[in-house]
Amino acid sequence: MPSVAFLGLGAIGRPMAARLAHAPGVTLTVWNRSADKARTFGREHGARVAVTPAEAAAAAEVVITCFPVSADVESLLEGTDGLLAGMKQATTLVDCTSGDPTTSRRIAARLAERGIGFLDAPVSGGTSGAEQGTLTVMVGGEPALLDRVRPALEPFARKIVHCGAVGAGDALKAVNNALLAVHLWSTAEGLAALTKAGVSPAVALDVINASSGRSNASMNLFPDRVLTRAFPRTFRLALLDKDVGIAAGVAREQKVPTPLLQLTADLFRVAHNALGDEVDHVEAVKVVEQWAGREIA
Ligand code: NDP
Repeated sequence: MPSVAFLGLGAIGRPMAARLAHAPGVTLTVWNRSADKARTFGREHGARVAVTPAEAAAAAEVVITCFPVSADVESLLEGTDGLLAGMKQATTLVDCTSGDPTTSRRIAARLAERGIGFLDAPVSGGTSGAEQGTLTVMVGGEPALLDRVRPALEPFARKIVHCGAVGAGDALKAVNNALLAVHLWSTAEGLAALTKAGVSPAVALDVINASSGRSNASMNLFPDRVLTRAFPRTFRLALLDKDVGIAAGVAREQKVPTPLLQLTADLFRVAHNALGDEVDHVEAVKVVEQWAGREIA
């Protein structure tokens, strides 16, 4: 089992790191920008706490990062406190950020100059999947590197899939989340219209979830979070806006006409601007409700 450093103890990073902390044989060092969160984590889970990214990286054969965007990873590479100051040759940076392929390829090239490997390895399954160790990890990069770091991913993953060259994991993750966004928005529109037409949204979901219009949004998110008005904060709308934007960008780069993806990127930018940085992704539904003049309840 390799020694592991985990940087970025956010909503999903924290439970992923906790799985590693409690996995047999793992030596874990953590770092977080807000140091109090790292200290609390270290106390609760018995992990070593590093003061700088360089110190965390120096202690590890596998360095895992999980930040909002790829640019955050890139900004931590250089400088005396940066990852490159700590990472040794033949170690690997596994970036679990839902990143963008272009920046990931640039990071991989920079690390390769130092003989350090890079894998983009975004995850899906949400914070509950991270807590239970059932995430799906989609990996871009050299298959041999993935084989080497796999034991460091298994404590939080049920499925680890090699998707292609560096950037392939990021591209696939962005498209997956764009589909989530499409389902969330289109289900909200349909249910808002039905509610105004006098059909209870609970009845509508009962039928849709036994029919061909169902999705994770209709089967889980609407019953558990919208109809209950619970809207728990597990995955920020700002991050879904970012993901749909990446998917729309990948499609544009490939010159594939994708009017629905481009529109969805715009709709989630509108919702993010209207609702702010801290709300949950499911709260985008509130924009549709506002347009309808009626709650889906
Ligand atoms: P959060 O916003 O909850 O946490 C972000 C983490 O990154 C915090 O530890 C934060 O530190 C740190 N951070 C932010 N900016 C910087 C920076 N410039 N330099 C150093 N550290 C920084 O995000 P999540 O944990 O929800 O998401 C992380 C990634 O995982 C994202 O790419 C997201 O899209 C993806 N993801 C999230 C899922 C979820 O359910 N939440 C599901 C699947 C993927 P600080 O504590 O100091 O603010």
